[in-house]
Amino acid sequence: MNNQYYSKLIFELSREGRQGYSLPPNEFVNFKIEDLPRQLLRQEGPKLPEVDELTVVRHYTNMSNNNFGVDTGFYPLGSCTMKYNPKINEDMAVHPDFVGLHPFQPAGTVDGALEVYYNLQHSLAELSGMSEFTLNPYAGAHGELTGLMVMRTYHESRGETQRRKVIVPDSAHGTNPASAAVCGLEVVTVKSLADGTVDVDDLRPLLDDTVAGMMMTNPNTLGIFERKIATIAAMVHEAGGLMYYDGANLNPLLGRCRPGDLGFDIMHINLHKTFSTPHGGGGPGSGPVGVRAGLERFLPNPRVVKVSDDETDGFMVQHGDDSLGYVSGHLGNFGVIMRAYAYILSLGRENVKQVGPLATLNANYVKESLKDVFELPIEGVCKHEFVFDGLKDKSTGVTTLDVAKRLLDYGFHAPTIYFPLLFHEAMMIEPTENESRETLDAFIEVLRTIAREARENPDMVKTAPHNTPVRRLDDTKAALEQIVTYNFEA
Ligand SMILES: *Cc1c(COP(=O)(O)O)cnc(C)c1O
Repeated sequence: MNNQYYSKLIFELSREGRQGYSLPPNEFVNFKIEDLPRQLLRQEGPKLPEVDELTVVRHYTNMSNNNFGVDTGFYPLGSCTMKYNPKINEDMAVHPDFVGLHPFQPAGTVDGALEVYYNLQHSLAELSGMSEFTLNPYAGAHGELTGLMVMRTYHESRGETQRRKVIVPDSAHGTNPASAAVCGLEVVTVKSLADGTVDVDDLRPLLDDTVAGMMMTNPNTLGIFERKIATIAAMVHEAGGLMYYDGANLNPLLGRCRPGDLGFDIMHINLHKTFSTPHGGGGPGSGPVGVRAGLERFLPNPRVVKVSDDETDGFMVQHGDDSLGYVSGHLGNFGVIMRAYAYILSLGRENVKQVGPLATLNANYVKESLKDVFELPIEGVCKHEFVFDGLKDKSTGVTTLDVAKRLLDYGFHAPTIYFPLLFHEAMMIEPTENESRETLDAFIEVLRTIAREARENPDMVKTAPHNTPVRRLDDTKAALEQIVTYNFEA
């Protein structure tokens, strides 16, 4: 339990002259301060908080207790796949043989690290049915931008510069249209049918020689598998466009079905969703991009390639002339890459095939157990996630936001709410494959309790949360006016 007395009592912890540590003089420094050029010297000391060690320990420990994470409780955030981050990943990421490497070390001195890169590129290609991957992009949205740059560069290489239209379903993740716009392409929306899948009749008239490609995710944002995917891919290819797969959440397909086999040409994967690396307050992430055969040369520089079977000199960092250019400072987030590689190796070829079925089973179990009290707009088997449209009984005035806030009182993180935009009261639930039957049952029971409270004592639900360190926050202000550094006030 967090110590609320302590965190409320003193907000500003700095006290002038209070010190945690004093460092001994550095015996290795072989110059005198006076020898440094004057213009490089600080005129006054840095303005840092002055706190003793115990205060620092309590501050960070209490802050960590105010946080909610996968390690503290169930986190069914649809579309974001908050899966468990196995601790062996962390051990590998800080392995002494890798942790001290510098990005600009000569290739010959980092062959082991390049082998990890190469092997992960290769594993992702095998799992997704693509020919080759780059691990350079730093996030899912960054991967989308990189993939769309591959698409643009491909069309430009064929002299088809008029292809600037990117078709995006109305159920798509918000980053899809945003990435297309950032890439300088034009976004065109295609409608969904009542069952949440792409309306092929709405798509047909959009296809002409100005189409660069179409972005899709399958299963789509509603957790529904797009059964017409082969037809859709054939139509887009027929029109000269490329198919882009948003593989942020590859969970339901992992080891069972490959985007490359469904007709997709370019895709990204979020290592910080499907491959169990942390999301961590906006980073670090990783959004590797894969392409089918024929598009490899457009991938960003630099690329890691295998040149021989030599144990100490088998891999090379390459810069190709046809590449779209650079999308990152170097070869991406190595620590994240180590974690994802550890995850794949620890699952192994057989167990990787269990991820999708278990994630799918868990999602369907929760859905079926609650659909008598929550509105289920799309019936049938879902994949790894599903969407409720709020409480079934709307007469109480209790909204999805209220239910989400009340869940926090019971120690569960809220699901994704008010997304996708296809429903007014959307609650998007993704349990992941990690959760036990007991956890799912507890979650189901709590949601049923909240549904009962909504009828019997709606005001209590509408004013939730009651047990958290802070109550309802101004979400917009919290996102736009973050204070992430120490503000020294003299
Ligand atoms: C999370 C997500 C993204 C964006 O990934 P970021 O790493 O947050 O940029 C894109 N598409 C889908 C479907 C996602 O769930």
